[in-house]
Amino acid sequence: MHFEFATATRVIFGEGTAAGIADLARSFGSRALVVTGARPERAAGLVAGLAASTFAVAGEPTVEVVREGAGRARDHACDVVIAMGGGSAIDAGKAIAAVATNGGEPLEFLELVGKGRTLAVAPLPFIAVPTTAGTGSEVTRNAVLGSAAHGMKASLRSPLMLPRVAVVDPELTYGLPAAVTAATGLDALTQLIEPYVSVRATPLTDALCVEGMRRAAGALRRAYHDGADKEARRDMALASLFGGLALANAGLGVVHGFAAPLGGGWTAPHGALCAAILPHGMAANVAAMRARSPQHAALERYEGIARLLTGRNDASAEEGIDWVRALCAELDVPGLRAWGIGEADLPGVVEKAAQASSMKANPLPLTEEELTAVVMAAR
Ligand SMILES: [Zn+2]
Repeated sequence: MHFEFATATRVIFGEGTAAGIADLARSFGSRALVVTGARPERAAGLVAGLAASTFAVAGEPTVEVVREGAGRARDHACDVVIAMGGGSAIDAGKAIAAVATNGGEPLEFLELVGKGRTLAVAPLPFIAVPTTAGTGSEVTRNAVLGSAAHGMKASLRSPLMLPRVAVVDPELTYGLPAAVTAATGLDALTQLIEPYVSVRATPLTDALCVEGMRRAAGALRRAYHDGADKEARRDMALASLFGGLALANAGLGVVHGFAAPLGGGWTAPHGALCAAILPHGMAANVAAMRARSPQHAALERYEGIARLLTGRNDASAEEGIDWVRALCAELDVPGLRAWGIGEADLPGVVEKAAQASSMKANPLPLTEEELTAVVMAAR
């Protein structure tokens, strides 16, 4: 056996830990750029305590947003970048910290749609403070950016981009609206399921995925129905963190393969797209393995997922998928058509999804027909 597991991020977890962010930031220097989501007022206390400059990211991050943010960081001679928000703010902040020191156009650094230019120098020190649970982006080395010109989302990726510190404070998620809890929580669940069945899974990522799925299975419904359930919020914050560590080391799969072109071509939250596709992506993988590769090791893993999610030791892989389908219905996950994705768009989406970097870690290659069936079912 041989595997690698990399993380250089100092993770600080716990209720109330966000109170220490200003002190942490000062250990890197006196000038900070605080990147936030659409509600910068949530970071007002932090900004006031640091005399920092604020950069708000209203939607999903794009190369244009990162270009502007990196300019801001340079103009203010910032020593440190702090992102406080959902995955969009954290990915934007991570990329801003990298482009601020490396210079050039953000697009040049992107995989797939850009030139994949490697970072020559270390980014500005970057502190990630997630306010959703979530994308796990606080512990990953990539930032997913949209490029309007390409209708695709792609990654800016470098080991140098691992955040220096991740402050995961479940209290920051107490006020999340139910729909955001649902979408981000189902993204977290996807990011535990996909690395667990990935061709790159390792014993270390397995341990994270199993524990994360166990917590999410009990907590996601509760956090959705009662946002003030502190134990459920804590479990979801852990599930999200574990998913980030797992995906950074084991990769993802078909669901995230689709999230790349869908997130690039339409304005929809990443988590909502993953949630719409998750049960159908799982079903396609299980059906394809049963048909073409009945001895595939990932089939047993799907049974393990079913046992963890349903809490029943005799659950089949299909019953695990049914559980996820029922959860998506209970959490009111809209189909892809709610985001304006029409049937005529699907062939182009399938073609791009087949090329997405996440697809390479899927337990087995899916055919064009199988991929088409996934997005048709997710409509
Ligand atoms: Zn995701």
